[in-house]
Amino acid sequence: MTLKLIDTHCHLDANAFQQDLSDVLLRAGEIGLTRIVSIGVSRSSSEAVLQLAAQHPIVAPVVGIHPNYALEAAPNDWELISTMAQLPSVVGVGETGLDRYWKDVPIDIQQDFFRRHIALARETGKPFVVHCRDAEEDVISLLQEEADGCPYAGVMHSFCGSRRTAEICLEMGLHISFSGMLTYRRNEELRATAAAIPLDRLLVETDAPYLAPQPQRGKRNEPAFTAMTNEVLADVHKMSAAEMAELTTRNACQLFQLS
Ligand SMILES: [Zn+2]
Repeated sequence: MTLKLIDTHCHLDANAFQQDLSDVLLRAGEIGLTRIVSIGVSRSSSEAVLQLAAQHPIVAPVVGIHPNYALEAAPNDWELISTMAQLPSVVGVGETGLDRYWKDVPIDIQQDFFRRHIALARETGKPFVVHCRDAEEDVISLLQEEADGCPYAGVMHSFCGSRRTAEICLEMGLHISFSGMLTYRRNEELRATAAAIPLDRLLVETDAPYLAPQPQRGKRNEPAFTAMTNEVLADVHKMSAAEMAELTTRNACQLFQLS
């Protein structure tokens, strides 16, 4: 049976997809993906994602500057991102967030860009996409500082944090998206956290070409593999893969205002 699925986070503009993107999109369609949210990490990557969306209607573009790319952003890159974010085809802002794993971008520069993305998301009425690596405390305090009394529209992508972090993010209105990491054998605790997330806040993604799910671990990831993570998420919530696919698709359509 074909599922109805949405990969809410991948990087189709990555070099890893240069050679065979049409095959990748074909396999995505075969497995039942109706939309693929492709995320920019820099000004040029955001432009590439926009171009892909213009060529392939299945692609829904998100534009922004990833924390690890914040240092190399040219002075007018942010202005261009802000202009792109206004386009009706663009469904979100990001990816943004904080990363303390890679040490090359000073945290204050990352925080500055994170704040800009949150403001741009509010201005455009579109959700923002948060990357958080070894920086849960910092991400939470910045989100709390920037809160304005209204719930956030956004997503903690490729979530691998603690249950407490998930609860705080949920309280602030955010969605929680799970990637292939949910399928890794040792990640029992993450599956327990996933089981506690309310059904209306769950999303699935690949983060392709990175983080391939367990059966494909170590290989290039691709949007079609969303089905594997969906299956594990269905399992932890004790429902069928079809039911979980329908539910996460509905959530993704609401959050990113996909038609
Ligand atoms: Zn990403």
